Parts: sequence; C-alpha cells; structure tokens
Amino acid sequence: MINFDYVRPSSQKAAIDALNRDVHAQFIAGGTNLVDLMKRCIAAPEKLIDITRLPLKNIEEHQGFIRIGALALNSEVAENELIVKKLPLLSQALKAGASPQLRNMATVGGNMMQRTRCTYFYDTAMPCNKRAPGSGCGALKGYNRMHAIFGASDNCIAVHPSDMCVALAALDATVVVSNSKTERKIPFKDFHRLPGDTPQKDNTLQKVELITAIDVPNNAFAKNSLYTKIRDRASYAFALVSVAAALEIKNNSIRNVRLAMGGVAHKPWRLSSAESFLKGKAISIENFKQAANIAIKDAKGYGHNNFKLKLAANTIVETLKNVSGMS
Ligand code: SF4
Repeated sequence: MINFDYVRPSSQKAAIDALNRDVHAQFIAGGTNLVDLMKRCIAAPEKLIDITRLPLKNIEEHQGFIRIGALALNSEVAENELIVKKLPLLSQALKAGASPQLRNMATVGGNMMQRTRCTYFYDTAMPCNKRAPGSGCGALKGYNRMHAIFGASDNCIAVHPSDMCVALAALDATVVVSNSKTERKIPFKDFHRLPGDTPQKDNTLQKVELITAIDVPNNAFAKNSLYTKIRDRASYAFALVSVAAALEIKNNSIRNVRLAMGGVAHKPWRLSSAESFLKGKAISIENFKQAANIAIKDAKGYGHNNFKLKLAANTIVETLKNVSGMS
C-alpha cells in the first residue's frame, strides 16, 4: 500500500470540492472493498476523502418514491421497517449479500461502487484489461467459472458482484448524484455499464460526482417479490446466478412484472424481453419456461461457466414459481 492523505469533510460541498482539487483522490465510506484494493495495490489513491460525516443516511418516504441516503448502511436498509414493508425485494437482496459484519460497514453508495471479484483482477501478476488497460484478459481463456454469460466483450467477461444492485435495477430505481454545481439523476439500469472496449470503467459516474441517494418509485410489487441467489455455499459467497422477480398478479394473470439477474453480466442484467412476454399472461409453468428461454436466448458461455446457461433458466423458472405461489 502506498502512503496517502486523509481528510474527513463535514459538508457535501467540502467533500466534492476536495475531490475537484485532486484528480488522484477518492471518496471512502465503509471501505469494505476499497481498502482491500489498496492493500493489493490495485487502487492507489493519493488522498482518501472520508464521507462518513455527511448527512446522507436517511431513509424517507416522499410523494411517489422512497429515498435512501447513499450512506445508509446495508444492514440498516435491509432491516428498515419501510423497506421491509414496501420494498421487500430490496431487503431480501441485501440480506443475501456478504456477511452481517460487512453489511454493518458497507453503505448503499459503496455497494454500487464495488468492483468485480474476478480473481485475475486481484492478481497483479496476471493480465487484466480492467486493472491494466491493454494488458489482456486472463479470464477469457482462463478459469472463468464465475464469469459473464451476457453482454461481455473480448476485453472483459467479468460480472458485477452486487445483490442489492440487481433488486434496484428490477425496481427501476434512480441514482441521485451531485457535483459542485448541479444534481442529476441516472436511471439505475444506466448507472453500471457493459465492458466494451473500456472495461476499466465500471459505471457512468463522472470524476467529480458524489452519489447522494437512491430513489425507488412506489410500486405494487410488495406482495409478490422474491430474490433467489444460487451460490457455492449458503453464506458469504457471490452469486453464481441470482434472480430478482416482482409480479403484480390479478385473477391468475400477470398485470406487471420485473425481472433482473445477478452474477451473469458486467451490470445487473434486466430481462426486458422476458418481462414483455409475461405481461398479460396466465400464471403457468409453460409460460415461465418460455420466459426463461427468451431470457437466455442471447447468453453465451466461455467454457467453465457454460453450466450457467441452464442454471440461469432453471433459476428464473423456480423464482417465478415461488413468487407466484405455485410451489
Ligand atoms: Fe480483468 Fe475483466 Fe478479464 Fe477479469 S474478466 S481478467 S476483470 S479483463
């Protein structure tokens, strides 16, 4: 780890100004990923701007949406009464992530900013376009059991590790970000990006922007929503595949549906075609199987992760069965 400066501003403006002044500075909150990256010399910020004093921890209901402060802890959000009641999908996804100790430190904003857990990214002896652009991708022809089946490129086949982000993508959340002059809102589905030719860029945040909140619109999914995570062990493991499903059901028919997957792409992967297919359809195994086939139509394995294609389809079907009360 290299030496770094440390500041702890108490206002949003001071924090953004500090980042504005120093291109090699980085925000830190819970530090549950960034400190690891620094210890392994994958990240080397010259200055850390500790934002934990900023007043961005509230969870509040507004007209038409719930606002979650970027510094709310993952454990607080998961157990929050309003979230459990109105956004159970988010609560479930958060509880499926990491360990209780990590959830007690990690913030909502930090969860979004965490980097891939591709083993080649963390091994500085190996090529990795995300860590060292232009060096190659160790995983492409290496051991890629955990890697992407959707939206990858020849430059990177890594997946985004978050569970929380899969639920937020399904729920059509919006990311609120600020720079020193203005605030802007980014649809959650556009926040994380696909690797393309620039896998070093994980998201669409500008250099001097701070995530201040997540807005989740009101919805009627609370009764029928479910997060299913398939992993190698029951706790403290990243998803092989996960499915976030939320349904609005009336008279055995699907009025509205949201589906997203985790562990399968460089970003939370929304299953829009499967959603369109299911809208207006009856609750039935045949329809769920057809939706799963539509969802994985463009999936592609890279060798060790070929099993994910079948696992993804099966997990979609099982999640839809469970969320609609069929099993
Ligand atoms: Fe690096 Fe991406 Fe390849 Fe992993 S998959 S080695 S993160 S370029």
